[in-house]
Formats: sequence, C-alpha cells, structure tokens
Amino acid sequence: MDPALAARFEELVAKYSKLRPADNVGPLREAFAYAALHHTGQTRSSGEPYMAHPLEVAHILCDMSMDLVCLETGLLHDTVEDTSVTVEDVRKLFGAEVAQCVDGVTKLAKLNFYSREERQAESVRKMLLAMVNDIRVVLVKLADRLHNMRTMASLSRERQERIAQETLEIYAPIAHRLGMGKIRAELEDLGFRYLDPPAFEEVTEAIESKRRATQGVLEEIRHAVEVKLARENIPARIEARLKRPFSVYQKLKRQKISIDQVYDLLALRIITDNVKNCYGALGTIHGEWTPIPGRIKDFIAIPRPNLYQSLHTSVIGPGGQAFEVQIRTEEMHRIAEEGIAAHWKYKEGNKGGQTGEHQIAWLRQLVEWQQDVRDPGEFLSTLKVDLYPEEVYAFTPRGKVIILPRGASPIDFAYAIHSDIGHLCVGAKVNGRIVPLKYELKNGDVVDILTQQGHTPSKDWLNFVKTSKARNRIKHVINTTERAKAVEIGEKHLEKEARRLGVQWKKITKEQIEKVAHDYGFGKMEDLHAALGYGKFSPRQVLQQLAPEQVAAAEAVEAPAAPAPPPPANLDDKDLVLRVRGVDDVMVYRAKCCNPIRGEAIVGYITRGKGVAVHSVNCSNVQNLMYEVERKIEVEWARAVNETFLVKLVIYTDDRPGILNQLTSSLFNEGTNIRTLEAQPDESRGDGSAIVNVAIDVRDKKQLERIVNSVRRISGVRDVERSQSNS
Ligand code: MN
Repeated sequence: MDPALAARFEELVAKYSKLRPADNVGPLREAFAYAALHHTGQTRSSGEPYMAHPLEVAHILCDMSMDLVCLETGLLHDTVEDTSVTVEDVRKLFGAEVAQCVDGVTKLAKLNFYSREERQAESVRKMLLAMVNDIRVVLVKLADRLHNMRTMASLSRERQERIAQETLEIYAPIAHRLGMGKIRAELEDLGFRYLDPPAFEEVTEAIESKRRATQGVLEEIRHAVEVKLARENIPARIEARLKRPFSVYQKLKRQKISIDQVYDLLALRIITDNVKNCYGALGTIHGEWTPIPGRIKDFIAIPRPNLYQSLHTSVIGPGGQAFEVQIRTEEMHRIAEEGIAAHWKYKEGNKGGQTGEHQIAWLRQLVEWQQDVRDPGEFLSTLKVDLYPEEVYAFTPRGKVIILPRGASPIDFAYAIHSDIGHLCVGAKVNGRIVPLKYELKNGDVVDILTQQGHTPSKDWLNFVKTSKARNRIKHVINTTERAKAVEIGEKHLEKEARRLGVQWKKITKEQIEKVAHDYGFGKMEDLHAALGYGKFSPRQVLQQLAPEQVAAAEAVEAPAAPAPPPPANLDDKDLVLRVRGVDDVMVYRAKCCNPIRGEAIVGYITRGKGVAVHSVNCSNVQNLMYEVERKIEVEWARAVNETFLVKLVIYTDDRPGILNQLTSSLFNEGTNIRTLEAQPDESRGDGSAIVNVAIDVRDKKQLERIVNSVRRISGVRDVERSQSNS
C-alpha cells in the first residue's frame, strides 16, 4: 500500500469520525482496502495511483457531510466499471445499499451523452435524475465529476474540452437544480477554464485587476456595514467577494456589455440570524446607499425553485462604485451552498427542532413530487426519489434520447423514431438482448429496433402501446388493410353468387354496379364491395338490383329445396380446395389444430353444426375424435388450383447479426410469401438467442419441406418447428 494513500485515508477516517462520532468506521476501512486491492497497478493519466481518485471523491463527499454508505460508494465507485469486481461482490461484502449505489454510479458512467446526435442536454439531465432511485448516486457522481475536473491538467486538449462541455451542460445544471451552489460554482469555473482557456484568462484577469483597484473600497464598505448593523443590533457575519469568472462571462455574453458595466462584480454577503433581521439589514443598507432601481429581489418571500432564499440588492457605494448585497440567514446560507446535501446533516438530528417540515417541503418541491407524500418520515429515511415518475428515457443505439410515457414498449419507441420504423418493426433488442415487443422500457435502456421490409403492424400491438402516436398509426394501417381485404372478399362473393344464380355476369357493366352503389348511398363501387365484404348486405340483395329477372328465375328453380343459409361473409376461399369425396355443398374447413396443407394425408370429421373439419391423419386430436367412427368421413384435396396455405413456423436461432435477413431471403428464394414475422427472446435460454415466429403462404407439403430444409441450413438456426396453432 502506498504510504501517501494510507495517510490520506487516515485523514478521511479522522474527518468522518469528527462528523459522526457514533458511527463505526470499520466498513469504511474495508471499502478502502478492497478498492485499493482491485485498483492495484492502475494509474491515472497524471501517473499517480488510480486509488487516489476514489479516495479524493470520498473526501469530497465527507466535506459535504454525507453518510457512511455514500462514502463507501465513493471509494468503490469505479471498481465495477474498471476492475473485475461485480455488483454482486459488492453486495456480499458491503450490503445492498452500497451495492445499489455503486450499481447506479456504474450505470450513469455507461451513458453515452455525446454521440453524433444532437445533445438534448435538458433531456439528458432529466434522464440522469430519473435513472437513479437513490439521490446519493447523483451526489457521488457529482463528487466524481468534481474531482475529475480538478485533475484534468494531464489529459489531451480534446478530452478536456469534451469533459468540460459535458460538465457545463449536464453536471453543473444538476448541481444547480439540487441547490448545491458551492459545487455548481466550482464545476462551472473549471468547465469554463478548460472549454475556453483564452476567454477564461481574460475574464479572470479583468476580475483580478478590478479586485486590486477596488480592494480599499470593498474593505471600506464592509467595515461601514459592520458598524451600522451593530448599531441596529443586527448580528451579522459579512463576506466581501467578487463575482465568479463563469457568471461574469455569462453576463458579458448575455448582455453584451463590458466588465465595467457589471454592477454586481463586487458583492457583499450578510449572514444574520433570522428573517426579520434580513429585512432590517436591507433597510439599513438602503438608508446608507442609493439602491439601483429594479435590482431589489426578494427570494425570501418567493424562493427559487431549488429553494434558494436571499434578499438581493445593488447599491451605489463610495466613489460611485456599484456593488451587490445578498442578505440571508445561516440556514438559508447552508441551503444555498449545500442544497440537497444539507439534508444529511438533519438526518443526524443535531439541529434539533429545525428538522422536519421545512426540509420535507424543500425536498417535495425540489423533486416536483407529484403525489402526496403520505409518510414524509419514511420518504426521507428511504431516500428513494422518483424525480420524473411519468416518463421513461430510452436511447437509440446512436445515443439519441427518446422520451416516452412510463410503461411504453419497443413499439412505442419505434413509432417515436419514425412511422415507417414502427410499421416495419418485427422485434427489438434492449441492451443487446432480444425482448418481447410488449417489454416495458426502463430508464437508460438502449433500444435497437429490428425491421423487416413489407411487414405490417399487428392488431395485438394495440393492447400494449402507450403513446397515441403509435396507436393512431397502427389503427390507420389496420383499417386500411382490413378494408382492402373486405373489398376483395366482397367482389369475389358477388361474382360467385352471380354465377351460382346463373346471372350473366360478363354482361353487367361497371356503370350498372356503380349505380347500385349510389342507390345504397356509396360514392363508388369499391365502397359497395367493402360493405359486402364486411357482411353488411348479402350478394343476393345486390344482384336483385342488378339483374332482378335472372335472380327471380333462379329462385323459382331452387324454391323446392330447403332454403340454403347464405354463406358466411368471411368464408375463406381456401376452404374450397377441400371437398368431401362424392358430395358437394358441404362446408369443409381445415382444422385449426393441425392446419393440413395440400399433399398431406387427411381425414374429415363431421362436427356438430359447423360442417366437416379436416385434420391431418397425424394430428394428435384425430385419435381422440375417432372414437365416434360414424362421424369420420373421407375427404380429398380438390383439383389443384393456385391456392396457398397459411403455415406458421417457429424458428429457434442463436443471437447472430444478420440472421433475420438471411432467414427472410431464404424464404423469399423458395417463392413463399411472408405474412408476418416476429422475433422474441428465447426466455428459456436467456443468452440473447431468439424465437422467430413467421407465418408464410405455402402451396403444398413438398414446398414446405423444402423451406424447412433451407431454413435449417442457415448457420445459427438451431431448430424449426411447425406451429401447432393457427390462431
Ligand atoms: Mn470515477
């Protein structure tokens, strides 16, 4: 062990013991030894041992008065990311709380904020806060970032710039939001220094020369204030200070002014004991110097959203020198400096009566707590915060943030990117693993949508999508395709019925049909076909209009026979390729359980009221059904027509890139049409392998055998099964 590190660690122990004398520092020693052991041999770019970094992070956290769990997390925060240690190891040795915090910090480290996509800083900030369920994770992350910023000198210019920018865009605003003024200030000034060294130089120099020029004035003012407040019996601690480089820089940029025009470059801070004395001090200041109009701000009556409270004013001091005065109580000062971290001091109860209501109100406002906190005590003790309970933040593989409502699925994600991506979605990988399409996205998930040309949305998706965009797009496509189908069916039925009734179909013109369509209140012939397809009218009703005499003649002939029930509107033409041997006009259909296709040996079974079900002789149901032998009936495949059968295959594959493409091109090469294709994770294996469900049109048994063989030959395909279910 490096003696310098060991000594620095003892300083940490001493500091912590002073902060919380009652705590047992044993776990802190264990965490230090464990982290040091695992970081052995690693160095920072400055050349010092790596362990110096986590140790200093723990120091920063200790200076923030954080608790033991937080300091242990600080010491261990890079072990999972950078060494062979796992979260499970940390859990076993240091308990669930520390493990959860280390895991949280590790996850944040993996986020790729700076991809080529637009940065979306606001989303990233929100997302970062939403991803942690323990606010200590954010505090450790801020301490980590602060130490890295302090020790950036030996990094390359490029990395300095990138890290500085990220700090200014992401981390400093988070510190601000959490009310941590001190850390925010240091992060901003360091960020400014590394992002734009010449500007930083210029501003600091200007501030420095101003300081030299006004040093006397500032001391004079400070003394005058002290005397006057003492006369009024207002106890006060007074700090004279200059504005920070970054806030001066921002002011110069924002207001396009020179440094001499910055009113509040010189600032006095008066810290007193209570609110009444704050206003008293303000009166005293205004009695002595002329206030600049419009510069008085009462953040005591109306605190800032991060609960910052102070009175601000700017006055013209001796020699026409303007300066700013901030007035606040000790309590407000602590909140302004430490923000949410101030909470941990209260946890110790050493502030007695001040604990409670105020802090709870503060946290509640801070996190925009949306539901009532029923048990504030519990809320505080568990420290679980859900900063944005309504939203979930997920990423594209290139790092773009997609914001979705909680409970959203990969389908919602796909539609959020683009409607076409949504329509073509056949599967999704989350963090590299295939997931079901109804998977609930979690904060920080990296989502890769798998698409397939020609794929169309499935009706089932409507059961789980959460965004209205996805819902509307899916509905639109489904309505369009269903209508197209209805038009086709309607047209066929009309023609078939016409032939059956002996209507001379060829002689009926389009104009005639359109006229009937108009009579029914439709704009065009297609609408009439669609209405027939949806079963709103029977074809015969329409034919009676088109060719009343021929229909009447046909009816006269068929009259003696029992009135045949009209064919169901959705009767599938495919069923007509089967028939009962020697009998016509019996409804025959393929059984859903085995879904036989042309070429297979089949057997018919007379059902009660639903016609003849045709099973494959191999169907497991057949054996059970056949105890009623009298209901068995011979069936045969009708003469070959250009007819196809829907077959569902289940394909088990390894997790290999491009496998879906190979699969579909193989199916395509066999001349089959793919109806649907969906990839699901193979839950039983959990190694990223997948189950692909595909529905295809096949002509016969021989073609199916060829397809199955060629799919089996694709490397990475483990098995192919024909699905038992056709539903
Ligand atoms: Mn680190």
